[in-house]
Amino acid sequence: MTMHLFDTARGEVVPFEPGPTVTMYVCGITPYDATHLGHAFTYLTFDLVIRRLEDLGHEVHMVRNVTDVDDSILGKARELGVDYLNLATSEVASFHEDLAALDLRPASAEPRATESIQSILDLIDRLESTGHTYTVEGTTFFDTSTWEGFGSVSGYDEATMVAYAAERGANPDDPRLRNPLDFILWQASADDEPSWDSPFGPGRPGWHIECSAMAMAELGQTIDLHGGGDDLVFPHHECEETQSGAANGVPLTRHWMHVAMVSYEGIKMSKSLGNLVFIRNLRHLHDPRAIRLSLLAHHYRAGFEWFDHDIDDGVTRLDRLITAAGRPTGPDPAPTLATIRNALDDDLNTAAARDALDMLAGAILAGAGKNPGSAAGLTEAAGLLGIRLDESVPESWVRTT
Ligand SMILES: [Zn+2]
Repeated sequence: MTMHLFDTARGEVVPFEPGPTVTMYVCGITPYDATHLGHAFTYLTFDLVIRRLEDLGHEVHMVRNVTDVDDSILGKARELGVDYLNLATSEVASFHEDLAALDLRPASAEPRATESIQSILDLIDRLESTGHTYTVEGTTFFDTSTWEGFGSVSGYDEATMVAYAAERGANPDDPRLRNPLDFILWQASADDEPSWDSPFGPGRPGWHIECSAMAMAELGQTIDLHGGGDDLVFPHHECEETQSGAANGVPLTRHWMHVAMVSYEGIKMSKSLGNLVFIRNLRHLHDPRAIRLSLLAHHYRAGFEWFDHDIDDGVTRLDRLITAAGRPTGPDPAPTLATIRNALDDDLNTAAARDALDMLAGAILAGAGKNPGSAAGLTEAAGLLGIRLDESVPESWVRTT
């Protein structure tokens, strides 16, 4: 059995066939606000990949970075009048609590941008010595005209790339640019911002370079799978691929995987609209396993709208699973286990996997079959989806609502 997953760069579902040890890099958070449902959906998706790969006998090394220096965290720290690193520490701690509550596998390593400055500078230095950069007024840019493959991850045309660059933090009209899509590797810091000495002048890293540097430092030049939310396809991942490819002469990753965005009741979830659904609030009201079950209804490549009542379905399903797991007999669980594994291998068809689980629970509850291993099979099947039904469930998860 082999997982088949959609690869953004190839634009199709392809077999994902890594070696015994899988290297995975998932772009992490900028720790300036609480974890919301969109984060949870993204990290849940990669968690399911990890669980299935482990089930197939692989060992997975997943690295997830922390962007603890960029415009958003510095802006928020300024607004709150606190030190940006203190803000990062407290937000990372709540992020870990939320992820642990959702039973998401912890990262094997979680490097921080501010602790990776030397590897970032080493990478920029290599790009400079091979003629891929230029520096204007204290800012060092990557010259995209020096790299033929620019655009190979997203497949976007130039107009689309320019539009996304403008929307997502860059300024294609910056008069210092040789080409509108050139991107910042190193920039001068404002007076009240942190600054590091460098051969390119004092300053701080651009957004994209940190992930290339940290992926390389933690996992090597080419990783098996790299991903994040689909708003990272361009410019973030395009720029990562370009600078890593230019520096190393080999691709950054063998497979690109992106997770669609979550809206809230018809409107895009965003900080500025104030309609973020925070995991902290949701998990205080509901068993986190019900949140997982509700999210599993949606395919990771299909954006969806979350409605408050969506949690009800997860609560009902969880209740049925828990009751069924306590029954002494039921049908043979083997076909369900096979169906769930096949569904996960089919580009993570979580809805089909969840329905198969629910059908087995339904059959057990209906008194079908006399197999004494049915409940154990149900528990194993639920485990493939990260739903714990055994005695290891923390008491704090169990809600009476
Ligand atoms: Zn990244």
